Amino acid sequence: MHDDLRARDQKVNWHPYTQMKGASAIVPIVRAEGTYLYDNDGKRYIDAVSSWWVTLHGHAHPYIADRVYRQLHTLEQVIFAGFTHEPAIQLAENLLKLLPSNQEKVFYTDNGSTAVEVALKMCIQYHANKGHKKSKILAFQNAYHGDTFGAMSVSARGVWTEPFGHLLFDVIFIDVPTSDNMTSLFEEIDKHVDDIACFIYEPLIQGAAGMLMHKPDDLSNLMSYCRQKGVLMIQDEIFVGFGRTGKWFAADHLTEYPDVMCFSKGLTGGTMPLGLTTCSSIIYDAFYADDKKKALFHGHSFTASPLACAAALASMELLLKKETWERITAIEQKHQTFLAHTVLESKVKNVRQTGTILAIELRQDEKTSYFSALSEILYPYFLSRGILIRPLGNIIYLVPPYCISDEDLDYIYTVIIDALQL
Ligand SMILES: *Cc1c(COP(=O)(O)O)cnc(C)c1O
Repeated sequence: MHDDLRARDQKVNWHPYTQMKGASAIVPIVRAEGTYLYDNDGKRYIDAVSSWWVTLHGHAHPYIADRVYRQLHTLEQVIFAGFTHEPAIQLAENLLKLLPSNQEKVFYTDNGSTAVEVALKMCIQYHANKGHKKSKILAFQNAYHGDTFGAMSVSARGVWTEPFGHLLFDVIFIDVPTSDNMTSLFEEIDKHVDDIACFIYEPLIQGAAGMLMHKPDDLSNLMSYCRQKGVLMIQDEIFVGFGRTGKWFAADHLTEYPDVMCFSKGLTGGTMPLGLTTCSSIIYDAFYADDKKKALFHGHSFTASPLACAAALASMELLLKKETWERITAIEQKHQTFLAHTVLESKVKNVRQTGTILAIELRQDEKTSYFSALSEILYPYFLSRGILIRPLGNIIYLVPPYCISDEDLDYIYTVIIDALQL
């Protein structure tokens, strides 16, 4: 059964982040429900990575499905320049109530990378509109902000970006803050401060880099310095937003407010593509002028898709429920208990956890890399045991949907321990 779909797939489809030569293990999925994916042989997989970190409440959630269905029969799409609609208004209203109080406007796009592009354009054009000459961007080492050219530019350089290196714009990369390196980070900022248009960062967790984590207090200190020095801040919550860190947003762990924020992934509960960028009135007001040239000239065909907005509204309603937070807390606690055991395993180099996100870094001889042999052994092993876990090099991580049961978590932990004995 697999073979037929695989052969057809191979003839016509080109998959993301995949060397197509030798990519025979592509799994045809025919349906999904809650925590589970089912392939066309009826084999069940626990989706322990929320299908690339997007699924919050489980697959094919009937409440979200129903809301999208109703929206599809009412208003499926309308141009968002010169027109508006209830779902986009309601979603912006509901979201802004939960964000840091300086966030006042929502700009819609349709994925994470474009939400980042808009954020960068907002900050760069902010300075242009004000007549400042500031062109450099500040970002963290190991950053990941997406795959379009602007987003790639502010992300770490590596094998992914190599062919495009000469086309990416200039970025000053700094280390993530620790209690030890703060002074040197401040010095680095001082050195370039007249030239820095903005600072973009993944707060608390650098997902794609391998779930690297830094402390809220340290980030708050760094943000506070940026604020003092007039450096605009873009907080990329595309991965960490909507409960992942154990609170609604990473912002809820921090004492400083960013100027601009980016969201996508969990925004619609992982059901529909949608991105959005929010900003403070400081940013918005720099565009609000009699001069037409000061407008933000950006938009996508599916900007503020009513369907995606309806999905996001439904997902946020589910996230407001007490039971959802009980599950998030339960996942957090179970992760912590498991890590206390795992850290004793001889193959384990480091364990880390924030909220529902857990990472186990394994020892290995060769240099850590995305292509490391470990992930090539572990990924098919986990699939064979009925679990979708996609290690990043030598880092096994879990980003489960919030609806995952204690039993499924326990099973995943057992299989991870088994994998450590391979
Ligand atoms: C996934 C991700 C993006 C890019 O989002 P896409 O929807 O995949 O384009 C940007 N920033 C962070 C932190 C991400 O995790």
